[in-house]
Amino acid sequence: MRIIAIDGPAGSGKSTVGRHLAARLGLRYLDTGAMYRSVAFAALRLGIDPDDARRIADLVPGLEIIVGDVVLVDGVDATLEIRGPEVTRAVSAVAANPEVRTEMVRRQKEWAQAHGGGVIEGRDIGTVVFPDAELKVYLTASETERARRRSQEATDLHYETVAADIARRDLVDSTRAVSPLATADDAIVIDTTGRTVDEIVDELSSKL
Ligand code: C5P
Repeated sequence: MRIIAIDGPAGSGKSTVGRHLAARLGLRYLDTGAMYRSVAFAALRLGIDPDDARRIADLVPGLEIIVGDVVLVDGVDATLEIRGPEVTRAVSAVAANPEVRTEMVRRQKEWAQAHGGGVIEGRDIGTVVFPDAELKVYLTASETERARRRSQEATDLHYETVAADIARRDLVDSTRAVSPLATADDAIVIDTTGRTVDEIVDELSSKL
């Protein structure tokens, strides 16, 4: 199994770099953030408080999540909504839930087995999920650049709103008790600020 792990905070370029690297290597690509977002989406639809750890944990085992170009949650197309402000606000609380993490990590390993590995991106991929990955990458970018990228994607939100949301999410994600966002000791750290996707994919390919 060939596993490339990409971690980093919101807006650091993980998805763009991950997709391009996967295409170059002929590997599949998995966005694990979309899985946690799918859990948050399901909770909101059912009116479950994202901070209600017990009810969220009970919801997860029976939840069908299919992540690809289209994201299906129990058969409902959630592709657009999982990127929306409500899910984005709720996701870090859901992702801090240890039982949610155990189940998502189990599914991520199952996915990798089924696809002969892949380029997998998230927050804990190199540190917890695949500590033996062939290549571990930690992407960063300046706070301004990360907020700029995300506000270009969410054109209906003000830059300040996006910047505040990213800062809050980074804080929750990096200070939670279970599998916080962290750099693996053996990860290649790349600051993507002002660099092109091709440059970064070239640099990563040269390490393989
Ligand atoms: O990558 P993205 O911003 O879509 O991730 C959404 C949220 O999912 C993150 O803010 C984090 O709370 C959670 N997440 C996580 N572990 C991962 C991937 C995402 O906790 N491996």
